[in-house]
Amino acid sequence: MHACRNCRMILSGEKTCPNCQGTDLSEKFTGEVIVLDLEKSEIAKLALVNAPGRFALKVK
Ligand SMILES: [Zn+2]
Repeated sequence: MHACRNCRMILSGEKTCPNCQGTDLSEKFTGEVIVLDLEKSEIAKLALVNAPGRFALKVK
């Protein structure tokens, strides 16, 4: 699995991030948050996530 360095979305095989269209991906990431409902999610606010989906907390 890879995570996007730009927005930290976790990808499952895509070579381009579907969230920000970025191609700067990293295999080294830690933590994971799953955001289902952006507006109701406190986790999304804490993790500074801007879209629904799976996101890494830190990407190296
Ligand atoms: Zn991205």
